Amino acid sequence: MFVYADNAATTKMSATAQKVFIEAMERAWGNPSSLHSTGQQAKEALEEARARIASLLGADSPREIYFTSGGSESDNQAICSAAFYGAKKGKRHIVSTAFEHHAVLHTLMRLEKEGFEITLLDVHENGIVTAQQVREAIRPDTALVTVMYANNEIGTVQPIREIGAVCREAGVLFHTDAVQAVCHIPVNVKEDNVDMLSLSAHKFHGPKGVGVLYAKRGTLLTNLIEGGAQERGKRAGTENLPAILSMAAVMEEELGGMDSAAAAILPKRDRLIDGLSAIPHSRLNGDRVSRVPGTVNFCFEGIEGESLLLMLDEEGIQASSGSACTSGSLDPSHVLLALGLPHEVAHGSLRLSISEDTTDEQIDHILRVVPEVVAFLRNISPVWEALETGARPHLL
Ligand SMILES: *Cc1c(COP(=O)(O)O)cnc(C)c1O
Repeated sequence: MFVYADNAATTKMSATAQKVFIEAMERAWGNPSSLHSTGQQAKEALEEARARIASLLGADSPREIYFTSGGSESDNQAICSAAFYGAKKGKRHIVSTAFEHHAVLHTLMRLEKEGFEITLLDVHENGIVTAQQVREAIRPDTALVTVMYANNEIGTVQPIREIGAVCREAGVLFHTDAVQAVCHIPVNVKEDNVDMLSLSAHKFHGPKGVGVLYAKRGTLLTNLIEGGAQERGKRAGTENLPAILSMAAVMEEELGGMDSAAAAILPKRDRLIDGLSAIPHSRLNGDRVSRVPGTVNFCFEGIEGESLLLMLDEEGIQASSGSACTSGSLDPSHVLLALGLPHEVAHGSLRLSISEDTTDEQIDHILRVVPEVVAFLRNISPVWEALETGARPHLL
C-alpha cells in the first residue's frame, strides 16, 4: 500500500489547480505589462485573481495582495521591509519565536549580524506561545513581531488574533507566516489583526513557486528583487500567471470545502494519535487540540528518526522526521528542541501529515506498520538496550 503522509512538506496539485494552470498556458500566456490585447487579457486575469484572493483572505483591497514565489520569499520580504523602515526610526528590535520556519529564523539571523536585536520567545511544552509573552517582550524600539500561525513540524496553532491585538495596542507591526494555516483553518487578515501575512500555494494543493504577501494598506515594503514595476513596484519580474491563476482557483475551492475536509480528516488524525500513543515510551508533540487538522508529530524513545523514515518508505509510507528543509541534516529539529525536548528524544521524531485524500485503510496501514518498525529498531538499538537494562533512565 502507498500512503503519502507528508502533506506539510508539499501537496499534490488538485484537478482544478492542474486544469486552470494548463488553461492559463493556453489562454493567458501574454505579459500583463504589454499594452496590446494579448497582454491586456493577461493583465485582466491577473487582477481578477488578485481581487479574488483579497476577498478570500478578508483584505480591504486587492492592492494589499502582492504575488511572490512562495512562502520563503514572502517571509523574507515582510521581515526585511519592517526591519528597514524600523531602523529608519531607530527601531532595531524584533520579536519572534524559537520554532519559526527557517525562512523566518535565518532572515532574523542575518538581521542580527547587521545589528538588529532579536528576541526569540520560548515555546511552551505544548507548542504554543502566548499573547502575554509577546506583550512582555515588546519594547519601545520594537520594529516587528513575527509569529507563525501554525507550526509546520508539529501542527500547533498559535493565538494569532490575540497576539495581533497586543501588537495593535502597542503600535508594533505584526507579521504571521500562515503557510500551514491558509486553507486548513479559518484565516482572516482583518479579524486576525495582522499587518502582513505569508502564504504559499503548494501547501494547499496548488502549484509550487507561487505565493502571496498580504500587506495591509499603509505598510511600507522594500524590494527583494529590483527591476520592472510589477506588483506596484515592490516585486519585479514578469508575473507567473499560470501559477497565480491556479492558486486563486484552488484557494477558492479549498476554502469552500475546508469545513467538510476538516470533518473528514479529524477522526483519522485522532485515530493516528490514539494508535501511536499506545506505543510504549512515545509522546505526541504539541497540544492535542489546538492544531491544524492534518498534522501529527510523535517522538519514540530509543530510535533514530532517519532509520524509521527509511523503513517506513519501504512499507510504502512516506513521512518526514521534521521539516523537509532540515531532513538530510543530522541535527535534531529546532522545533522539538524549542519545546524543551532533550536531544536524544528529539532525534526519534516522526511527522505524519495527512490530507482529505487519506483513506481509513491507509490509516490502518500506518497503525499496523509504525509499531512494528519501532519495535524492530528498538530491538537492534544499543541505546534501547541501555534504557531497558536501566543503564540509562527513560525520558519518555
Ligand atoms: C513550506 C513553508 C514555508 C516555505 O514556503 P515555500 O513556498 O516552500 O517557500 C514557510 N513557512 C512555513 C511554515 C512552511 O510550512
